[in-house]
Amino acid sequence: MRNITLGRTGITVPQNAFGALPIQRISTNDAVKLMRRAYDGGMRFFDTARAYSDSEEKVGLAFEGMRDKVYISSKTQATTKEKFWSDLETSLKLLKTDYLDIYQLHCVARCYGEGDDLYECMKEAKAQGKIRHIGITAHKIGVAEDIIASGLYETLQFPFSYLASDRDIKLVESCAKANMGFIAMKGLSGGLLTNSEACMAFMCEYDALPIWGIQRESELDEWLGFFERDITMTDEIKAFINNDRKELLGEFCRGCGYCMPCTVDITINQCARMSQMIRRAPSENWLTEHWQNEMMKIENCVDCGICKTRCPYELDIPNLLKKNLQDYKEILAGKEV
Ligand code: SF4
Ligand code: SF4
Repeated sequence: MRNITLGRTGITVPQNAFGALPIQRISTNDAVKLMRRAYDGGMRFFDTARAYSDSEEKVGLAFEGMRDKVYISSKTQATTKEKFWSDLETSLKLLKTDYLDIYQLHCVARCYGEGDDLYECMKEAKAQGKIRHIGITAHKIGVAEDIIASGLYETLQFPFSYLASDRDIKLVESCAKANMGFIAMKGLSGGLLTNSEACMAFMCEYDALPIWGIQRESELDEWLGFFERDITMTDEIKAFINNDRKELLGEFCRGCGYCMPCTVDITINQCARMSQMIRRAPSENWLTEHWQNEMMKIENCVDCGICKTRCPYELDIPNLLKKNLQDYKEILAGKEV
């Protein structure tokens, strides 16, 4: 397993890290067990966030008494000084630590710079030793480019998978040039990509640290397997990736859920990508009464447009939903998937 150094932070860890968003959905015991297994299997970097409900608490319990053996990053969505400090104190308390290796401004709408309260708070927190490095996460490419150009941040976290555009790839290269760490979120594009070997082989081509979102033992086994056998890009994997890119590129929903809640309660993050999911998973799972009811809610869309203002990928969500519903109805009527 190749090691990655996150730019000028100097943090050097195996290129195979743990994203602690999905552990919100499992019990504390199972989450602690899962993360300890991840550690025993070789993972050393764990990424969480104040916004992931009880994730920080679970990470804190998993590594109590062995804080110096792992790197922990967390995030705040604060927009004021007061919230920044209360979030940081809460994160430190729940994570049972007196420092974070990286603290990130979470999903920012713009790059905060010198003189902005949030950036000044970051500097102060670093001076106080509460955080070791200043990071940031973004979903919009223009914002991410501004962040790199600012030269103010030590790491950038951004969605990155083998569906990446040339502009996304350039971002990773620019981070390397700027001596910034690049942390890759959504390496499976929100569950759309299912071939872990292809995802890992792609990641190994770049100076990027993937934080795989892990919830199940079986998922963890797949990622830990790469500590046992090195994966490199082969012609076969390249061909697989190229086929998948042809099938998936264009206007597609990554399932992130930032657009929600919907005014009329449509489960946008699943319904707007039903056409892909139904073709990539056993389709029966998506044809249950529950999903049929969820899909039919699309007919209630009032075109209020609120979801569009929140989607980091600027998707035309109401139309995307309608296209997915049309396809779904045809599948229900017997169209082959
Ligand atoms: S435009 Fe439609 S899908 Fe989007 S929030 Fe409004 S009702 Fe929901
Ligand atoms: S429509 Fe946009 S914001 Fe909503 S889940 Fe899909 S990618 Fe995310």
